[in-house]
Amino acid sequence: MISLAIPDLSGNERKYLNECIDTTFVSSVGPFVERLEKMVAEIAGCKCGVATSSGTTGLHTALVSYGIGRDDLVIIPSFTFIATANAISHCGAVPWLMDIDPVTWTLSANQLRTELYDNTETQDGQLIHKGTGRRVAAIMPVYTLGNIPDMDSIVNISRDYNLPVIADAAAAIGAEYKGKKVGELADCTVFSFNGNKTVTSGGGGAMVTDNEEIAKRGKHISTTARISTEYDFDMVGYNYRMTNIQAAIGCAQLERVEEFVNKKRHIRETYNSLLSECDGVSLFPELENTRSSCWFSGVVIPDGNPDKLREICVILKEKGIEARTFWKPIHLQKPYEHAICAKTLEQTENVWDKILTLPCSTSITDEEIEIVTNTLKELL
Ligand SMILES: *Cc1c(COP(=O)(O)O)cnc(C)c1O
Repeated sequence: MISLAIPDLSGNERKYLNECIDTTFVSSVGPFVERLEKMVAEIAGCKCGVATSSGTTGLHTALVSYGIGRDDLVIIPSFTFIATANAISHCGAVPWLMDIDPVTWTLSANQLRTELYDNTETQDGQLIHKGTGRRVAAIMPVYTLGNIPDMDSIVNISRDYNLPVIADAAAAIGAEYKGKKVGELADCTVFSFNGNKTVTSGGGGAMVTDNEEIAKRGKHISTTARISTEYDFDMVGYNYRMTNIQAAIGCAQLERVEEFVNKKRHIRETYNSLLSECDGVSLFPELENTRSSCWFSGVVIPDGNPDKLREICVILKEKGIEARTFWKPIHLQKPYEHAICAKTLEQTENVWDKILTLPCSTSITDEEIEIVTNTLKELL
């Protein structure tokens, strides 16, 4: 079986795990958590890092750190993994769903500008959504597959409306945009280290920022809001701590982040060159000004639909190849069927059910990629 995305744990993972066991530091106390926080901040180009138990809890921590709470609105693209919307719901807030740019598959800066202009007004120094009376509290772009949206425009718009930009960079570690590292683009940036991401800690996440106040708050909130070594707490906190075991694996993985991202980029390039002449498919986007972290690779089937893609996946599986469909947008998900949506989500609807992700583990060989592409060509 050629798997979709399995981790490569052949570095220092075993050695560091043994250290956890030998020292008895298996829980959230221990040196690896702090080491991971330093490493991830440096890789992202930020001063501070806060490790969390998952990407989702990292997003929730970041939102709470910025004061986002009940009934607030947070802008996200509808084309994302459900965790982006769920983290907002966990604050008691509501997502405001916007469309994507068809080239990058990330938040459309043009629509963001228009939607804010048409639908908001300032009341008592707060930005209010006219249709619902809710406060608009933040913009959360998603770095889809490691692609970066037009962040120059998004940040400019955010300054015009005085909104923080909190990026869901779950799978974008190692990405760069116009010479900047991935954490230098937004006010706060969140990664996931889930098992299928480019860098994994088994499960885990981290938020990074240059804002020391926010980082301090994030750490406090995510570690039960304890204020002394005794049982004193100053708010309702969360137990979103990463354990030393998770961080041990994460540190070993982060040591190889350059190698992994280069490999992911090579996989994307190889698929795109092998499939460039193939009828009935178009390629995953290749972006100017961006070093995408190319989390997943695959193809777009322009005349595809969910049934057709599912059928392709079944046939590929019979031939020993694991392929999958990709994110179903938030506005089509049951818990968000009454969500607040932009005027049109046309680009999202055009692309989401045409994407087929193909095997792209960092350990995949060029020969295996060729087997996948030849099988796919035959099938189509
Ligand atoms: C993986 C992912 C998440 C969630 O991360 P977990 O670590 O699984 O909680 C959130 N957003 C996006 C865009 C993701 O790809």
